[in-house]
Amino acid sequence: MKVLVINAGSSSLKYQLMETDTKELLAKGLCERIGIDGSIKHSASGKDDYKADITMPDHSAAIGTVLKMLVHPKYGVIKDTSEINAVGHRVVHGAEFFASSVLIDDAVMNALKECIPLAPLHNPANITGINACKAVMGDVPQVAVFDTAFHQTLPPKAFIYALPYKYYTEDKIRRYGFHGTSHRYVSQRAAVLMGRPIEELKLVTCHLGNGSSVSAIKYGKSVETSMGFTPLDGLPMGTRSGSVDSGILEYIMNLEHIDIHQMLNILNKQSGVLGISGISSDFRDLDEAAAKGNARAQLAIDVFCYKVTKRIGSASAAMGGIDGVIFTAGVGENSIDLREKILEGLEFMGLYLDKEKNKVRCKETIISTDDSPVKIMVIPTNEELVIAMDTAEIVKGLKK
Ligand code: AMP
Repeated sequence: MKVLVINAGSSSLKYQLMETDTKELLAKGLCERIGIDGSIKHSASGKDDYKADITMPDHSAAIGTVLKMLVHPKYGVIKDTSEINAVGHRVVHGAEFFASSVLIDDAVMNALKECIPLAPLHNPANITGINACKAVMGDVPQVAVFDTAFHQTLPPKAFIYALPYKYYTEDKIRRYGFHGTSHRYVSQRAAVLMGRPIEELKLVTCHLGNGSSVSAIKYGKSVETSMGFTPLDGLPMGTRSGSVDSGILEYIMNLEHIDIHQMLNILNKQSGVLGISGISSDFRDLDEAAAKGNARAQLAIDVFCYKVTKRIGSASAAMGGIDGVIFTAGVGENSIDLREKILEGLEFMGLYLDKEKNKVRCKETIISTDDSPVKIMVIPTNEELVIAMDTAEIVKGLKK
């Protein structure tokens, strides 16, 4: 089955066309500056890459451009858009409505709209992407795959904040967690790599990228995760602070005479490793600066690694043990030094890193010593594949 995977942002749209029978990626690309002017980058297996400025007044125009690229005689991979059997959408927030992926119908669209206050930046863009596909592709079945769904198995003791309870019952304020598609994928791959059923494994998944979260996956189900009501909770990230003492907010707001929007801008855009280092949100820049002796770049790396180390400990405690730890996403898959630093001192928990095996990037492999009681793994994430496979499964189910 050919599935078009769509990840729609407010002015961007990422896409992949996948053949789910073979798990083959046929084409992928990115539309940017939608509604401003417009540009597209497109690549397809066995074809030259394509890049152009193309006016895209809205997301429907962007989808139209994507379809034209997919059937393009020189750069395309299909003869006719009717070969696309289904569309899978990444949707950020499904609240408590959705614990798994779902075929999109009117009731689902209404629920997605109800989720907008919980993800005001992301869900409207996702909805726009769905509407654009409907407008351009008509009755092709569409499926929503949620970032939050995998964490719906968190027990109440893990998702309830210690606030007046009415904020949960009346206002839906609770820990939701994000990166769920990634945590789900890498935990399932880890079980395959370990040659054991996921139903007997306690796994800690570390999704470390520009945004970062650590989850505890017990017997295949998420039971703890570091992101919360919003993706601002938990670990320090590229530009996000992660958890801070909430008393700091009022203190800074009074000090700088700023309102809550400006405060949140500081927490979301000016904090994290960028805030500490004053240099960059990109760990490659920090590594380079630290190697040249920049103390604040080193401090940013130290703070980040220390917090990830602590999270591995607390995720293990949440499950009463640990069989495997997985590193994924940009930093987790690529940074040999950061993995080593994060795991330093965790031998007491049975985590023994093989420093030679750790010299690996973006490859699915075990990097612990052969006799390490806990397996340490690098597993490149593939959220688009999960979206395509979920979509194919749901759409095949419709035909039965
Ligand atoms: P992601 O959000 O998963 O795309 O991850 C992006 C982040 O991965 C970048 O901002 C970098 O900080 C980080 N990254 C990518 N490659 C490397 C590398 N070779 N070493 C350290 N960090 C890296």
